[in-house]
Amino acid sequence: MESFKVALPGGFPWCPRELKNEGLSWVKDSSCIFCQIIGEKAHGSIIHRDELVTAFMDIRPVNPGHLLVVPNEHTADLRALDEEVAGYIFKIGKRMARTLRETDLNCEGVNLHLADGSAAGQSVFHTHLHVIPRFGGDGLGFLIHGQGHVSPSREELDETAGIIMQALGEDVA
Ligand code: 5GP
Ligand code: ZN
Repeated sequence: MESFKVALPGGFPWCPRELKNEGLSWVKDSSCIFCQIIGEKAHGSIIHRDELVTAFMDIRPVNPGHLLVVPNEHTADLRALDEEVAGYIFKIGKRMARTLRETDLNCEGVNLHLADGSAAGQSVFHTHLHVIPRFGGDGLGFLIHGQGHVSPSREELDETAGIIMQALGEDVA
């Protein structure tokens, strides 16, 4: 993968002055639409940019104001994403959620959503966090097939917890 640099001519109030002066560079996948938007090779309605992430409007918003927080460096999914960057994406997502509530957009609540892998609904394979304004009666929600949530026994919950803890390498006594 190649690396490229983009100038920051201003207009990003949260971006440190030195970054605006020096520009940014990061690893990109030229076949990836989000890399193209971040690198200004494709049009995007960019809201925020700093050395780690770029936030821009989703081209097919589920509600007005639906935006994406995207790491500047290309990683297809969460497995390859740096842990610090993963935390930072959530930090900026939180800031965006608060900001959406302060706008005149219809935003009574917010969903933060990240689809990791095609089975989870990921369709663009450059990790991204959705920030989705919500309001009463907007008709959105997780689709649950069948009868809805099941209620497993405590033994079943403990067994599943054990499987995950073993993979984590942790043993909570
Ligand atoms: P996913 O399905 O991977 O969780 O989300 C991908 C999101 O990217 C979708 O909500 C889709 O509307 C958005 N998207 C796909 N192509 C483009 C594009 O070219 N520009 C922008 N801004 N968003 C895109
Ligand atoms: Zn990419």
